Parts: sequence; C-alpha cells; structure tokens
Amino acid sequence: MWPIDCIEHKRDGKVLTKEEITRFIDDYTAGRIADYQAAAWLMAVYFQGMTYEETKELTLAMAHSGDMVDLSSIPGIKVDKHSTGGIADTTTLIVAPLVAAAGVPVAKMSGRGLGFTGGTADKLESIPGFHVVLPEAQFLEQVRRIGLSLITQSGEIAPADKLLYALRDATATVESIPLIASSIMSKKIASGADAIVLDVKYGDGAFMKTKERARELAKTMVGIGNLAGRPTRAVVTSMEAPLGTAIGNCLEVDEAVEALSGQGGRRLMEVVEAIGAQMLIVGGKAQDEEQGRTMIRDLIASGKGLAKFREFVRAQGGSSSWIGKRPLTKAPQVFTAVCTDEGYITRIDGRALGEIAMAMGAGRARKEDAIDPMVGIRLFKELYDPVRPGEALFTLYGKKGADMMALAQQVADHIIVTPDQADTIEPVVSEVIV
Ligand code: URA
Ligand code: CA
Repeated sequence: MWPIDCIEHKRDGKVLTKEEITRFIDDYTAGRIADYQAAAWLMAVYFQGMTYEETKELTLAMAHSGDMVDLSSIPGIKVDKHSTGGIADTTTLIVAPLVAAAGVPVAKMSGRGLGFTGGTADKLESIPGFHVVLPEAQFLEQVRRIGLSLITQSGEIAPADKLLYALRDATATVESIPLIASSIMSKKIASGADAIVLDVKYGDGAFMKTKERARELAKTMVGIGNLAGRPTRAVVTSMEAPLGTAIGNCLEVDEAVEALSGQGGRRLMEVVEAIGAQMLIVGGKAQDEEQGRTMIRDLIASGKGLAKFREFVRAQGGSSSWIGKRPLTKAPQVFTAVCTDEGYITRIDGRALGEIAMAMGAGRARKEDAIDPMVGIRLFKELYDPVRPGEALFTLYGKKGADMMALAQQVADHIIVTPDQADTIEPVVSEVIV
C-alpha cells in the first residue's frame, strides 16, 4: 500500500523506480504523506543509499516541486557556481566578474548566510545602495546587458527540499551523500543555469569533515548534474583553515576588490583560478585548465575583472566611488594584535574564527537576526606563513562597547605558531572532478 511499499522497498535495499521517487516527492510536498512516513523513508535512504540514477530522479523531482527559473532569453552558456560553504570565502565575488568579463554570463541566485559561513548576498548588501532583491525581468535584462547579476532567491525554488531538509535536521538524516547531493543540485537545476561548477570543501570548517567524503559528494553531484543534462564539474578544496584573510561582510568585499586588483592571497587565488578555469571551460571560452588559468590571471592583470565588478555594483544601485580608493570597512573600534613568537603558522581554526566573527555581529544565529556589515576579523598571515615577533597578526573591527582585548585573546588562541614548519603542507585544491 502506498506509500508504505515505497518505504519498504528502500528499507530492503531495492532500487526505486523514477515513478516511485517522483510520486513520493510530489505526495510529500502536497501533504499527502505524513512526516513520520517521510522520516522513515529518509532513514532508509540514509542506510541503504541510492544509485546515481535514483539520486538524479530525486534531484529532478525536488527541482520540479516549485518554480523553474527560465534563463533561455539570455544568449550563451549560463554558468552557475556553488560552494558548500566556507570561511573567509569570497570566491564568488571574484570569479563571477572575471568570467563575465570573458563573456560567460552569470545569472546567480544566492542565499543569505546562516551560521558561521557568510552568504554572498549579505556581503554585497554591505555596499551602500546595493540591491540584492530585483524583479526577475530586471535580473534577466541585466545579465543580457552586462553579463552578470546576483540576487537572492526569488519565487519558490525547490520547496520539497525545504520541507525535507527541516525533517532531515530533526531526524539525524542530514549526513547522507545522496540526500545532500540532491538537496544542493535540485536548487541549482531549478535556478536555471546550463552548466554548474561546484566548490566542495572539506575540513573542520566545512560540512564534509574529510577529503574522502567531500570527494564522494563531489563525484555524486557531478554525476547527477551530467545525467540531468547540465554539464557539471567540481573542485575539492580544503577548509582546514580560512580560505582568504577576511571574515565579515564589508571586510570580504574589500578583500574581493583587492583580489581583483591583483593583491589576493595565495590560498584564495589558488581557488579563484581553479574554479574560474572550470567555469571558462564549461562556458565554452577555454579549452583546458591551463588556458583557463592563464585567462583568469590576464583578466586580473588587465583590470577587466575589476571593471566588470564596478559595472555590476553600479547596475544593482550600489555606490562604486570607494572602489580602488579606500576600504569599505569602517567600525567604531579597531584593534590590531601583533605576534609575540617566531616561527610558522601551522594552524588557524577557521570554524572558531567564524564563530567569533558571528558573535561579534557578522553572522546570524537565526534567520531573522540582523547582521552588522562593518564588524569582523582581518588576518595578515595565512596558514604556513613564517612570522616574527612584532609583526601584525590580525585586526579586529568591533561594535561600540565590544571588549576588544577579550576578543583578540580569543582569536589569538586559535592561531597556532610553532617553531618549525608543519610536517605536511596540504594543498588547498586537491582535485578537479569532471
Ligand atoms: N546544503 C544543502 O543545501 N543541502 C544539504 O543537504 C546540505 C548542505
Ligand atoms: Ca580535520
């Protein structure tokens, strides 16, 4: 009897048919299947897993549960980029204008941040006047005109995912690769892009704790994207330490402008080049990774990427007079901490720094919380850098009344300096999955 037989089939390790999966998602979204039945089904999927084919059908059923954005009025191959969530990760703000400057249209819908990883929409909203909510017609027109727009989700994208995600959260079934892959890819597919490049992160600061799990998730998402007719590639990257050097909304916009001006940090630029090259390849502008990386470097050196960023900011109502002149960041309290030891930075706990920045007001604990765009942490050193006593280690930007000394001590506790260099230097990009 429906839906019990569908739960039984998955419980017993059978491969579900397209009809079963589609009907299950449709019925659950319409309220015809009870939460306790969907919860049992999710637990069965958690233990039995799903084939790529089943995961693809689940993804498509969830994508079709709500609005499907139609980008067909924009000429060219529209490429989307998605990150599984990082700390000090401004990659989207940097690569989107770079690839748009090379003629790859980017029509991106981005979430607001929740928890200790920042949302791209929140970062952009810290620019005075910038609108992240645009009517769909204006969004499409802007991409046709300048090749780039970034807005918050409009309409109802994948409501089945919203319902199932809440249920997974309450039933210890979040950490299942087919469920995570279908959750992410359903939203990407409903958002309308022709091709997708994923940044799948691993480490203490990431959703996937190990490289092996991140790799498996990346392979699954690439597999289902390709099966669904949306060429998909993934880059597996380390989130054992913050990616860039800025944590906080205005600070991250400043870091993106620096990167587009040719002054980006080593780790951040490695990911920018890796992701940018893949976006140029799937967008039909580069033949291979080497050519893509060279194009990204040239777009930075020529200033074309920064010019596109400025055009994009203006198109969405933002002020651009500060770009290249002064930082966007201004905070009532600024405190710089210096290094006391000589040696090498062998660990920076990105997750802890993300949580401190969040407590300072840079992020939301709950959806309805307001954020303070000015506050955050700016590091002057990266993982594995040498340090000497007296060198500036980081600057904190705090609210009025914040206890800056106490905050600085907390941050310093999570930056480990040792006399010798780390035994193994972990590359930030470990693999590209095509
Ligand atoms: N992000 C998502 O959107 N879905 C998941 O299941 C996990 C992370
Ligand atoms: Ca680890």
